[in-house]
Amino acid sequence: MSEPATVTDTIAAISTPPGRGGIGIVRLSGPQASAIALQLVRLRHPLDPLDHAHARLADVLDSASDDATRIDEALVTFFAAPRSYTAEDLVEIATHGSPVVLELLLRRALDLGARLAEPGEFTQCAFLSGRLDLTQAEAVRDLIDAQTLTQARQAASQMGGALSHRVAPIKQSLVDLVALLEAGIDFAEDDLDVTPQQEISRRIAELTPPLAALEASFARGRIVHDGLTLAIVGRPNAGKSSLFNRLVERDRAIVTATPGTTRDLVTERISIGGIPIELVDTAGLREGSLKSLDGSPDGILEEAEQLGIHRSREALADAALVLVVLDATQPLNDEEHRLLAAVVGRPAIVAVNKSDLREQHQKMGAPGLDFETGESSISTSALTGEGIAVLREKILTLATGGAAAEPGMLTNLRQHQAVTTALAALTDAATANAATIPHEMILLDLYRALWALDSLTGQTTPDDILNLIFSTFCIGK
Ligand code: GDP
Repeated sequence: MSEPATVTDTIAAISTPPGRGGIGIVRLSGPQASAIALQLVRLRHPLDPLDHAHARLADVLDSASDDATRIDEALVTFFAAPRSYTAEDLVEIATHGSPVVLELLLRRALDLGARLAEPGEFTQCAFLSGRLDLTQAEAVRDLIDAQTLTQARQAASQMGGALSHRVAPIKQSLVDLVALLEAGIDFAEDDLDVTPQQEISRRIAELTPPLAALEASFARGRIVHDGLTLAIVGRPNAGKSSLFNRLVERDRAIVTATPGTTRDLVTERISIGGIPIELVDTAGLREGSLKSLDGSPDGILEEAEQLGIHRSREALADAALVLVVLDATQPLNDEEHRLLAAVVGRPAIVAVNKSDLREQHQKMGAPGLDFETGESSISTSALTGEGIAVLREKILTLATGGAAAEPGMLTNLRQHQAVTTALAALTDAATANAATIPHEMILLDLYRALWALDSLTGQTTPDDILNLIFSTFCIGK
């Protein structure tokens, strides 16, 4: 006999990260969650029922047999449907964070009929039950993945519905307009006034600015979400590494510093104004270390310079932002001229470094830097720290393009695409209306806009896309 269609699986997973820790949690969700949990552990006070949101002390047993041995103690918390994260019955078994204990619990839960949860399935349950919309579910993943406090705040605000709340009134106005046109069409034959062209045009014109503002919020939202890469380029010895270290020493991202080298480039993730910025230092080679490799300093210096230039070019091609470091005590060389020409029109900052040496250098009558300082250039000294604060500010301004933080920003391409589709459909509707095209046709455009907004919050998102989104979570979330 086949199972009745209403039976849903009970899913189980280790919800804490792999490895050893102070505690670890196995989570079960579904109709059998508490029944299975009660076979995995022995409650210390068996007569106390598993009440909603009450933690109970229990012993973890190594098997189901009567002579089972206790291998850990646990706190078991039950959440009754629909007042749980997944809106189903949900049990969390918190033990010491031993992979052996956690895996035993999970294996026994599977033996007892639970199914291993897919990546993101707990959150997917919350979405499918309507407890979270799609933007909120995405925010759960973003919060877990956050590397800076600003990212976490942004994710928490979206999880609280900031984006959904921003979209809701826009969608409502769109629904009202659709209803108005539908009514006009339905009653057209009954002599009911068809909505005049100006009224439709006025309503579309009202809808457009908030939607356009939402679309524009992606400029900042994307950067908060994804961060940016800043390549530090310039001739060897200009002070690239010293500036890199200056920037890193205070603003190193607390959570995931990624030291090491990528294609011989030194990278480090820092946070400026809460925006994750990956610094790429193109100066991997030191003259001194090279000189010591063989006895011919000149040839090797040239080679080092060539290698440095090659790396600078590579880093330059990949990075969103560029920091060109010039040496205040040296006239520009050809490569620097080329470098400066290459960054014209790109988001770039020129740091005239070694400012502390300039005066002394000029006094000695040595030729100094022949570079016209302008808007995008600043004077720095990696030695004294002069200009470093200004440099940070410049990087932040360049990174955000001046766009301010606001509630309910779009943070990923999927969201952005939904809003651009809605905007394009609205523009089409406005054009059709201006050309006095029949309302049935205008409605098609308006429905397209509505569908796009619904897909933003997940109301009309096809299953395969949903699966793709939730597959970017880890198991247990
Ligand atoms: P890179 O090859 O461009 O990475 O240059 P480094 O950061 O290794 O610096 C080359 C040399 O210049 C080192 O001896 C630094 O100590 C020195 N240096 C870097 N920045 C400054 C600065 O602002 N003032 C002074 N006086 N020396 C600097």
